[in-house]
Amino acid sequence: MILILKSGATDDQVDHVIERVEALGLKAHLSRGTFRTIIGIIGDESQIAEESIRAIPGVSKVIPVLPPYKLASREAHPDGTIVDVGGVKIGGGNIGLIAGPCSVEEEDRMHRIAEQVAAAGANIFRGGAFKPRTSPYAFQGLGEEGLKRLRDAGHAHGMPVVTEVTDPRLVELVAEYADMLQVGARNMQNFALLNEVGASKRPVLLKRGMSATINDLLMCAEYILSQGNMNVVLCERGIKGFDPATRNLFDVSAVPLVQQLSHLPIIVDPSHATGKPELIPACALAGLAAGADGVHIEVHDCPEVAKSDGPQALLPEQYAEVAAQMKQLAELFGKSISPLPETIA
Ligand code: PEP
Ligand code: MN
Repeated sequence: MILILKSGATDDQVDHVIERVEALGLKAHLSRGTFRTIIGIIGDESQIAEESIRAIPGVSKVIPVLPPYKLASREAHPDGTIVDVGGVKIGGGNIGLIAGPCSVEEEDRMHRIAEQVAAAGANIFRGGAFKPRTSPYAFQGLGEEGLKRLRDAGHAHGMPVVTEVTDPRLVELVAEYADMLQVGARNMQNFALLNEVGASKRPVLLKRGMSATINDLLMCAEYILSQGNMNVVLCERGIKGFDPATRNLFDVSAVPLVQQLSHLPIIVDPSHATGKPELIPACALAGLAAGADGVHIEVHDCPEVAKSDGPQALLPEQYAEVAAQMKQLAELFGKSISPLPETIA
């Protein structure tokens, strides 16, 4: 950690900073320049609370050398992590293709959509049974019945399933049915939920909050990792922009940036990022071209009757077209779409 002192810092203040650092069992290296005094702190940075150091009179800036997300950082784990979702690998050149309706729908429709997206190349089936809706009067999801329908339809077509868990009290129930737990954008900083999915054995899909910085996202991943669950996949799903022309602003640069900073796989969700079916294929391919480890797309066979997010759903045939292009692009980068597992529990 490097401390930059204020230009007028007195000798007493400098001595006091050094005393505080040494009291923590760390070494302080003083460097006096013409205009500024800098103190380098040598030793285990985790011993120091950055905020209390910043509160010492005379200290102007505190620059940590290591990122605050210790377990999620690339430094902690130079090789990329590969997350196994019920036999489907994400990361390390293995591409996850998550597809399915926004909400879990009727049983026969779930089977139809599952069959079509699996045939197109999707390897993880999705659908929300607990929906985080802006309005309390909007459809809230089918609950446990939805979890059953999702699992049955996904597994019948050889795909593990991912579904959102919105409340720490539901983690155990959702984990009984789901191969992967999704923490949605609105719940990214629900720390009780992060701790609970961290304690679960299921891999977690952590979506970036719509107003969250990359640092916020990685700190939230850190909550899950710090509970002992290392199987976290991040998801860029668009952040709030100023222009209502798209639902959100697709931050494609988040992909290579996160990959520089962290070993965790990151996928993109062009459905929620754009909210427009006609923009989804291009943004899906852009995400893969930027290095994403997977793509999450909402698919519905009759968007006008969808229980949620119908206007942004791709039709199964549109999904098949972009899935074929994603397969080609993955191959161009020496990657491959993860095959379906031989058996599914
Ligand atoms: C979803 O996946 O349907 C969803 C609600 O996503 P997000 O949390 O990214 O809005
Ligand atoms: Mn949705």
